[in-house]
Amino acid sequence: MQAALHPYIDVHAHIGQTVSRARPIGQDLARYMARMATSSVHAAIISPTAGGPQSRGVLDTKAQNLEIAEACKAFPGRFPIGLGVVEVRHETAGVDELERSIREDGLLGFMCHPILSGHALEEELNPFLEVVNAHGGLCLLHLSGTSAKVAAYAKRYPDIAFIIGHASMSLEVEHDIVEHCGSADNIWLDLAQKPDPEEDLWTLHKLVSRVSLSRVMFGSDAPYYDYRRVQHLIENSSLSEAEVAQVAYGNAMILIRKFKPLWELPMAAVEVPTGYPNNDIWITNGRRLT
Ligand SMILES: [Zn+2]
Repeated sequence: MQAALHPYIDVHAHIGQTVSRARPIGQDLARYMARMATSSVHAAIISPTAGGPQSRGVLDTKAQNLEIAEACKAFPGRFPIGLGVVEVRHETAGVDELERSIREDGLLGFMCHPILSGHALEEELNPFLEVVNAHGGLCLLHLSGTSAKVAAYAKRYPDIAFIIGHASMSLEVEHDIVEHCGSADNIWLDLAQKPDPEEDLWTLHKLVSRVSLSRVMFGSDAPYYDYRRVQHLIENSSLSEAEVAQVAYGNAMILIRKFKPLWELPMAAVEVPTGYPNNDIWITNGRRLT
């Protein structure tokens, strides 16, 4: 697949292993950086994979959060924002771990994948959101049912920036998001896992005619998906060059600077870490990375 033309900021990348599904799939930091290096992704908002190891309970979550924090500390230009992960069954211990990861490790919020973490995006997530709201932070939410639930969170927690992952996963999902979240001041959308090759009614132009262009951002959903397809779609859309740049990196840059005002997007590509040849990192099974 052709290299992307623009620098990209990826607002939706996961580091770690998903082990709660057969077969396990994941990527360590070096593997993701090798992918970044060969796909024009210059910076990213990273979080653990959902469905990670849990044999030790919240201690495993702590280890997953620490891995993200260490990546952000090692490469602050590439990873200006790191998010933790939350599991509904950890209850208060999970809330405490989130608080610790923000206070001690500098994470800015959390990623929630309701299907894999047991959440319903209802009141059970409020104690976690209270923690983020107290610090002023960011949450990446995968949907569970209607996005009206995210709109309710956004209203209740105006100091949190919410990103809805996979906003255009299907036309039904996108319509629901436009209806409930399209005019919220603190909700952004990512394009992870678009396009679906079978979905020829969808265009980026249509999406940005229904929500503010400034809210739409590139997200990879690495390590699950060959996200170069999404880059290809963005670059071949009917948007102007300036609008494409906004979706590729400009909007994400503004969002990141709300929290890291001095952060600059590195204009040089990531260096490929040794041991990850290009032909190994882009092996796919259909649209899925393996
Ligand atoms: Zn995701």
